[in-house]
Amino acid sequence: MTISPSDVATRVDLALHGVRVDAPVARRKGAGPSDDGHVVIDGRNATLPMNPESPYAVREGRVFKGGLDLGLSVEPVRRPRFYDLVTADGVPYDKIALLHGRDVLATTVVQTCIRYVEPDRCRFCSIEESLKAGATIAAKTPAQLAEVAEAAVRLDGVRQMVMTTGTTHAPDRGARPLVRCVRAVLEKVPGLPIQVQIEPPRDLSVIRELHEAGATAIGIHVESLDDDVRRRWMPGKSTVPMCEYEIAWDEAVRVFGRNRVSTYLLVGMGEDPDELVAGAGRLIDRGVYPFVVPMRPMVGTLAHR
Ligand code: SF4
Repeated sequence: MTISPSDVATRVDLALHGVRVDAPVARRKGAGPSDDGHVVIDGRNATLPMNPESPYAVREGRVFKGGLDLGLSVEPVRRPRFYDLVTADGVPYDKIALLHGRDVLATTVVQTCIRYVEPDRCRFCSIEESLKAGATIAAKTPAQLAEVAEAAVRLDGVRQMVMTTGTTHAPDRGARPLVRCVRAVLEKVPGLPIQVQIEPPRDLSVIRELHEAGATAIGIHVESLDDDVRRRWMPGKSTVPMCEYEIAWDEAVRVFGRNRVSTYLLVGMGEDPDELVAGAGRLIDRGVYPFVVPMRPMVGTLAHR
């Protein structure tokens, strides 16, 4: 698919200003940095801020600026059918995992984090707010995840799964419970591509265990390559030095392969844009896919206060 420079400019503008649209599938809480609605633009998953003041509006599946049709088709992702089900042990499926985009199932396996005390907390994170609000449960079991994944694939055409988790004090920093979850899901849904997201583990062997369990990709998210930005925005997480990220990325590339390893780079935390681009280039050379994400603080985060 070729995208013209003016299309790129429009897409960047949409990502920044958002769009006036009602999206039934949205992310409003969690560990991620983006408050957004989930839509499909020209057949591809996208997340956009839902902004009633945006100059962009969606009418009849097209994006308009004023009266001008910008030539992009946009469809809100519909509410999935699996959201109406309840697990064998009585938990609503949407407290176990959520739809992200049109076909990605996302879960936070352990919804608590050792870094969530305010002085340590990442300023863009609201991982425990969804728990306090009763929108999720503290820890999902492998059996629950397998049950929900099977239904999401069968009823809603889910094609991949993402598992993230809060950080623990253990040497694997919380990664090892994901091994059992990946195994259980793949027993029920053989072949489902699963990305796991972890902090750099002190015990690197868990990276191989995740791969052997069947995970196909891994995210080890540094969020920023600038140590000052890291200290300001992630006081707890920035105590993990950059060299530990580099060691974990290199091990993950050895185990999972080039471009099967990714890291978020958030834009909008006061970083130098040229340094961000140069850093992204170094990650690419290393085999690590830099996933550039605009920072859109969610309600309940320290950044939103
Ligand atoms: S490390 Fe930071 S972003 Fe991750 S769950 Fe903990 S507080 Fe949230």
